[in-house]
Amino acid sequence: MTIEGKADMSPDAVVIGAGVVGSSIALELARGGRNVTVVDKAGGIGHGSTSASSAVVRFNFSTWAGVAAAWESKFCWESWRDHLGVEDPHGLARYERRGMALLDVDIAPRGPALALFDRIGIPYEEWDAETLRARIAGIDPGRYWPPKPIADDGFWAEAPTTLGAVYTPDAGYVSDPQLAAHNLATAAMHHGTKFLLNRTVISIQRTEERVTGVTLDDGTVLEAPIVVNAAGPWSGAINALADVGADFTIGTRPLRQEVHHVTAPAGFVSSGGPCIADIDLGTYLRPEVGDGLLVGGTEPECDPFVWLDDPDEANLQPTGPVFEAQVTRAARRFSDLQVPHRPRGVVGVYDVADDWTPIYDRTELSGFYVAIGTSGNQFKNAPVIGRFMTTLIDEVEDGADHDAAPVQFLAEHTGATIDLGAFSRKRPVNTSSTGTVMG
Ligand SMILES: Cc1cc2nc3c(=O)[nH]c(=O)nc-3n(C[C@H](O)[C@H](O)[C@H](O)COP(=O)(O)OP(=O)(O)OC[C@H]3O[C@@H](n4cnc5c(N)ncnc54)[C@H](O)[C@@H]3O)c2cc1C
Repeated sequence: MTIEGKADMSPDAVVIGAGVVGSSIALELARGGRNVTVVDKAGGIGHGSTSASSAVVRFNFSTWAGVAAAWESKFCWESWRDHLGVEDPHGLARYERRGMALLDVDIAPRGPALALFDRIGIPYEEWDAETLRARIAGIDPGRYWPPKPIADDGFWAEAPTTLGAVYTPDAGYVSDPQLAAHNLATAAMHHGTKFLLNRTVISIQRTEERVTGVTLDDGTVLEAPIVVNAAGPWSGAINALADVGADFTIGTRPLRQEVHHVTAPAGFVSSGGPCIADIDLGTYLRPEVGDGLLVGGTEPECDPFVWLDDPDEANLQPTGPVFEAQVTRAARRFSDLQVPHRPRGVVGVYDVADDWTPIYDRTELSGFYVAIGTSGNQFKNAPVIGRFMTTLIDEVEDGADHDAAPVQFLAEHTGATIDLGAFSRKRPVNTSSTGTVMG
């Protein structure tokens, strides 16, 4: 795919990153009347961490703003064609409504989660162990907490008790995350946005107070009063180029992740098996087209974390030990699941915020905005992130003091008012976060 634009040397806004987040921001800024240029060092749209995403859409987050954003986004995915307002010759990503069972675990207690669901009206069912067994073919409802290395004898010990789940029927996944980003980029182009691919931002132009543009590796200088950092796991490097971050209370770091692809246990897919979040054993599972199953991790403390200084250093091959650990945990939950000998799957990099909650904000450098720290859980919110950022940028550029009186976002589909201060770079660390990809 090629989306190559002729550089507009002085757009109203430059977005760094043509992932699902940057493309959504470009679309909404352009819809608002801005002349936008998106720059990406990769050769296509959504070739960064977006391409590895499991694209699960679920609603359980530890904060009201997190839940409300995910619920609002669900409506955008369900009416994707309307959300975009254009056709994409490459086809449209599809929303697969499969439901999500969040298995019980003390670090994500039911009570607070259900109170947030009730507040915004997310339908759910509470399942005990018996219902779990009846509703998901082949599942073992044992409570195994805490997660253990598979070489640990305790891993194979019988579960002392059982667990249930909270089931949300509206959850699901997006069929093709890279195509979803392409769809957003196509819609943004329809509104005049230019995409400069295979071009790397190597410096940020600024005065003492205000951003003035970016310089690309081919020497091009784009002069712009607004620059948005949507560089995914590379966002820290972009902030360093802009020399911002001194007033952030929340840090971000790239973390390597593997997601594995196996054949689902017999009967799982045909009986409508849902997405499953299994923090109890340290995995999440997602049905995949055909009879496939994606198996990812939920950062169990017993596993090594592969933090990276530079996302480009990530080994992009799935490795035997991580594959065996994740898939064997899934097989502990589904005894019919076969653990193949050869690892198969994808490797991606999360841009992890200290509290696994994203940062959508301005910075101390006027005109320089960030949509970063997406912590492995913000693909689902891409449609609404574009709107968050555009509302924020409009109001801040109009003189609002977002740090003192946070901008409020009115969600189109749900009517919810979301306080964008919840995603502030200066917020207190969210202590109710699970400290995992679940946020
Ligand atoms: C393995 C994995 C599984 C995930 N599963 C889920 C899930 O199930 N559900 C969910 O909601 N979320 C999930 N996520 C998270 C979600 O995919 C990300 O939050 C989202 O895709 C981030 O999009 P982005 O556009 O911010 O970043 P990216 O897609 O990484 O885009 C950033 C872009 O910036 C470009 N860039 C970087 N530096 C420069 C530079 N100097 N100059 C020019 N361009 C530059 C890169 O080339 C890249 O294309 C997952 C993530 C991973 C890695």
